[in-house]
Amino acid sequence: MLEQAAGLLAWDEQTYMPPGGSADRARQKAALSGVIHERLTSKDMGRLVRALKKRELSADGVIILRETERNWRRASSIPNDLVREIAHTQSMAIEAWARARQENKFKLLEPWLGKMVCLRQREAECVGYGDVPYDALLDDFEPGAKSRDIDAIFSRLKAKLVPIAEKILGEPQPAPVKAPGKCPLEGQRAFIMQVCTSIGFDLGRGRLDTSPHPFTMGAGNDVRITVRYDECDPTYALFPALHETGHALYEQGFLEKYSGTPLAEAVSAGLHESQSRLWENMVGRGMPFWSFHYPGLQKAFPGLKKTPLPEFYRGINAVRRSFIRTAADEITYNLHIMLRYDVEAAIFGGKIKTGEIPSYWNERFEEYLGIPVPDDARGCLQDIHWAVGSFGYFPTYALGNLYAAQFWAAIRWRVPGLEECIASGDTGPLLGWLRKNVHRHGKRYRAAELLEKATGEKLNEDYFIGYVKEKYGPLYGIRL
Ligand code: MG
Repeated sequence: MLEQAAGLLAWDEQTYMPPGGSADRARQKAALSGVIHERLTSKDMGRLVRALKKRELSADGVIILRETERNWRRASSIPNDLVREIAHTQSMAIEAWARARQENKFKLLEPWLGKMVCLRQREAECVGYGDVPYDALLDDFEPGAKSRDIDAIFSRLKAKLVPIAEKILGEPQPAPVKAPGKCPLEGQRAFIMQVCTSIGFDLGRGRLDTSPHPFTMGAGNDVRITVRYDECDPTYALFPALHETGHALYEQGFLEKYSGTPLAEAVSAGLHESQSRLWENMVGRGMPFWSFHYPGLQKAFPGLKKTPLPEFYRGINAVRRSFIRTAADEITYNLHIMLRYDVEAAIFGGKIKTGEIPSYWNERFEEYLGIPVPDDARGCLQDIHWAVGSFGYFPTYALGNLYAAQFWAAIRWRVPGLEECIASGDTGPLLGWLRKNVHRHGKRYRAAELLEKATGEKLNEDYFIGYVKEKYGPLYGIRL
């Protein structure tokens, strides 16, 4: 309950809080996280966990205890002074990162990054790990995942995906979607609202607001998503809205009876991302979806009236060499992630020092994407993750894409007439499958286990590769 309250404070900070409120809000958030940490690591919690472990528990109880013990162990193994030092370094590093990116000077961030890496290494030592310290960081976002598994899957993915990307990038590229004239924000918002509710976002238990960066907050009966708008660009708010709706559908899909327990919480960052990417890409960049929704978009953006649907479809699926991860298409996106994972592995494996990040980054970038990085602002300084110390987060984005493709293959196999349904505006059978096979389980299974239960197979990157070939071969008129 306290964590949900903290989430609401953070949501408000990004949406409605007046600028003058920020200092007070920082103190409120710090006070609340202090209370949460104190309770989680208290002697009472330890006593309760130990006492419950001796008892015979229901199947649900076993999971709730397992997850509570995991949180308790992790939190209580990290000494208070380390927690405070990480929080302090985070706020200093965020400031340094913003300046470093703006002035294109990696040197401004480097000392903080060096400190953050040391702190996270100390954290890994406190928490403990199997093979390598990096696993302790990864485990925070993707419980149960190991870097040796990710090494294996990423190297297979790289070997298969890089040649495909090169082939597509060698073809003439479709024009980006343009709509002459403007679309007032109200019209865009109304269209987005209609699309998001049509795929199942429940406004009785959710909200759509505006913030500088899109995000999803909350669970169960109060799930809030945000987007930002551009009056001149018909897809600027739209795809992030579909992405966040995917996250929101997951959060709204937990069972009410488990509310407030780990059985009404997401499995992992990667699994969460699989839900957003499935709706954003597999559904939202697909032809069936737009054959239903395109007239509505044309109404909201009259400038699109002269753009026929096939041209729009090619435009929203254009593959480009780009420097910025968040703007990348669904094919090159994973290359951006694998590059970041290489850098993290090199840092925590002791192969490079933080000062060598720019050169290491640039070298790898050219290898993956075939173009030289013009400057650090469009290179290793573009993301906030490392400044806040979130090492181990990036690989979960690519895992999310792979999970999504594997779910999608299973859904296409098991939901008859799926594409016709989507083309008629009915995504109910699709959402039903996700509710039954993914959402309602909460944290009952680890990601790998849930994926296998739902699809009948262990994680296999060939589903993503197959999806890409099947979609982009015809789109570009080539054999992949
Ligand atoms: Mg996301």
